[in-house]
Amino acid sequence: MPLPRSVLVVGSGGREHALVLALAKSPAAPRLLCAPGNPGIAELATCMPIAADEVAGLIALAQREHIEFVVVGPEVPLALGLVDELTKVGIPAYGPKADGARLEASKIYTKEILQKYGIPTAPAAFFTEPEPAIAYLRARPAPIVVKADGLAAGKGVVVAATHAEAEAAVHSLLALTPQSKIANQKSKILLEDCLVGEETSILVVVSGRDYVVLPTSQDHKRVGEGDTGPNTGGMGTYSPAEVVTPALLARIDREIVRPSVDAIAAEGIDFRGTLFIGIMLTADGPSVLEFNTRFGDPETQVVLPRIENDLLGLLWAAAKGQLAGTRLKISSAHALCVVIAAKGYPNNYPKGDAITLPKAIPCSVSILHAGTARTPAGQLVTHGGRVLGVTALAPTLHHAALDAYAVCDAIQCASKYFRRDIGARQLLRG
Ligand code: AMP
Repeated sequence: MPLPRSVLVVGSGGREHALVLALAKSPAAPRLLCAPGNPGIAELATCMPIAADEVAGLIALAQREHIEFVVVGPEVPLALGLVDELTKVGIPAYGPKADGARLEASKIYTKEILQKYGIPTAPAAFFTEPEPAIAYLRARPAPIVVKADGLAAGKGVVVAATHAEAEAAVHSLLALTPQSKIANQKSKILLEDCLVGEETSILVVVSGRDYVVLPTSQDHKRVGEGDTGPNTGGMGTYSPAEVVTPALLARIDREIVRPSVDAIAAEGIDFRGTLFIGIMLTADGPSVLEFNTRFGDPETQVVLPRIENDLLGLLWAAAKGQLAGTRLKISSAHALCVVIAAKGYPNNYPKGDAITLPKAIPCSVSILHAGTARTPAGQLVTHGGRVLGVTALAPTLHHAALDAYAVCDAIQCASKYFRRDIGARQLLRG
């Protein structure tokens, strides 16, 4: 199957930098564009100043630049129908159409599918008004989880320890304005029983009823060491997640991945993209927390470096409906990613602080850009909460951690903050 010669990656975060880095290694050596990209991506691809949610602008760019394949990073353009529009103009894309992206854009929709097909997930109820929601939650034991239905950029879930906290979350999430331009009439919430266990993320490249399961990973969502403080978009990841033994992975495949892929197909969705399944490993077995319909960030930074197949070939096969028979070659190395955030994240943090990167780093380490920008004078500065991801690949997790932290220490930035304990849970277990 001939591979595309020109590829447009949509997005601007660490995930897209990891995608561009892996695509740049393809033997097909495609011309790479990224919209809008970031200063790190600009070293590997031509960056175009079009935002990831400007669907019409992206279509015009893809046509003007004779793009043969589009890889969509973030969820918002997927939910806005970017892939539907690309398909109309005959440009293949990796990422689901709006019907598939709804699995991430509406937690209630996903919960209904999980319940309909008997896929393990926590019991839940849905509400649009506070009074019945509060009556329901008072009858459930605390802790209880309150979730906004729509996309909320990671801010739509509250794991409430007490009923009072849950009631406050009901009011604040019902008042939450749904993110961006996605049509969403009335705010809706889910109240869900709290599951206890360790979390893991399973990323699956899906093409209709065919799929390949990518290497396992775990992330550290809390901002503080020892998994304390508020939830964030992710402070660090590692792969493999050894808690997911081969036997457990086979069980997850049998009880969750296969039934989910089949359920999505049975609903009439021709899903071609990444199904990211958030799973709680409870005492009763694995249970689905959520679906995302794109690569996770920062999971992608540790999962992609361990895939030895040509990523371009893999994503292209999925987009073209030719994934059947694909076998993944996974490196036995361990990957660990430490996120460098701006001090204050996920609340208020400064922007525009100068960043100086070390001149030389080991070839097994990558510095992936997320929230960075360049000043007109060319100085690299902070431009977001999560600024950089430092990913190391090594024969052991311990070595990967040593290599990543050596580079984290060498990065200069006045507002630099990172957790020192990424991977500790697995290292202590081992
Ligand atoms: P979600 O976006 O639905 O994955 O929720 C974000 C985070 O909230 C998850 O990664 C979990 O840490 C937590 N969470 C969500 N649902 C539950 C649940 N039913 N029980 C316990 N924690 C949950």
